[in-house]
Amino acid sequence: MPTQRLPVVSETLCTRCGECVATCPVQALGVGLDGSVVVWPQACVGCDVCAQVCEPLAIAMREQDW
Ligand code: SF4
Ligand code: SF4
Repeated sequence: MPTQRLPVVSETLCTRCGECVATCPVQALGVGLDGSVVVWPQACVGCDVCAQVCEPLAIAMREQDW
């Protein structure tokens, strides 16, 4: 099971603005059917850019197994 630094999106803080999805340089983020942000661990390079552009600070980077 790979361990990797990945974004974790807070459902309570996220305003679903789409900024992180638009900014991710490797298209590792998408929008789910319910409008929530979805992470594709296989594509994510752990660059933190999504966390930096998220104005409500809804994204935290954490080491995760997947
Ligand atoms: S930038 Fe932040 S608030 Fe906007 S969709 Fe992404 S996680 Fe949600
Ligand atoms: S950490 Fe970087 S590569 Fe991973 S989802 Fe965020 S912007 Fe994309």
